[in-house]
Amino acid sequence: AAKQRGKAGFVRYEPGMEQPVLAHIQLGGEIRRGLDEGEFRVVYQPVVLLETGKVIGVEALVRWEHPTRGTVPPIEFIPAAERTGLIVELGRFVLRETCRQTAAWLAEFGPDALQKPGVNVSARQLHDPGFVADVLAALADSGLSTDRLVLELTESAVLRGSQISRTLHELDRHGVKLALDDFGTGESSLSLLRAFPAAIIKLDKSFVDGIEIDDANPAARDARQAVARAVIQLAGALGLDTVAEGIENEAQVEQLRALGYTLGQGYHLARPMNAGNFTALLASQRDAVAA
Ligand code: C2E
Ligand code: MG
Ligand code: MG
Ligand code: MG
Repeated sequence: AAKQRGKAGFVRYEPGMEQPVLAHIQLGGEIRRGLDEGEFRVVYQPVVLLETGKVIGVEALVRWEHPTRGTVPPIEFIPAAERTGLIVELGRFVLRETCRQTAAWLAEFGPDALQKPGVNVSARQLHDPGFVADVLAALADSGLSTDRLVLELTESAVLRGSQISRTLHELDRHGVKLALDDFGTGESSLSLLRAFPAAIIKLDKSFVDGIEIDDANPAARDARQAVARAVIQLAGALGLDTVAEGIENEAQVEQLRALGYTLGQGYHLARPMNAGNFTALLASQRDAVAA
């Protein structure tokens, strides 16, 4: 096990690897320290209008600037943060920072410069009795109105519990929007749509991968597109917005547009970036319109 240990002495995540409880607890201690030292930060990935490439929204993604390991991606610490409960404090930080930053962007570039930012939320946060109050306080302290935020939830996060259902409906009543993230990857995506007040479906990257391959066998191509097509039809019927995730080339943009998708995210469109670079992006968009 020693050779699986990273520089900071905790076990490095490998895909498919089950992290032992002890590793989570050790990593939890590191996360606690990182929170106290202010090592976490938020990066922003643009949400783009597929037709024009215009940036109209943003998703907040947490990063850990670790003193010896460098930038640590969320997959390496979110599970331990959930297991130890530290995700509540970490998530509160991401929410507050995103609301503060979004309010600053709206003040600088105008109320139409950006739609509601998306913030990822774990099940553990939804179970926290202070969650609704935390969300409302983050909004109030930043000056953002309550209808200016989207919480991104995965199916596993919303699957269980009437407490969660109450929480989500309460947030809905305040105007906070919900997005179902990684849509289609779980087992009960459809029943969730009925049970929760979702406003946005985020089509998982796995249904965007390979969607553009236009091979000689139309049946194979149609099979690859089937979920993306079903999801956009469902969203249309239910009056939900859609965002296609993980777009990595222009052919995927074209194919998604042909299916009716209008919004997307992905490395081909824009990578997650720090707040300063996102500000520069909004500035260049404003200047292009003015010119
Ligand atoms: P997600 O919410 O589905 O976020 C999308 C992930 O896909 C991000 O990874 C993003 O950087 C990545 N991505 C975007 N475009 C592309 C692309 O074209 N190709 C590929 N290969 N990847 C792309 P990231 O930032 O590593 O986050 C991974 C997951 O960690 C997120 O998935 C989300 O579930 C979770 N996460 C991130 N930030 C937070 C947070 O603040 N709180 C909680 N609870 N979870 C978070
Ligand atoms: Mg997300
Ligand atoms: Mg996703
Ligand atoms: Mg994901």
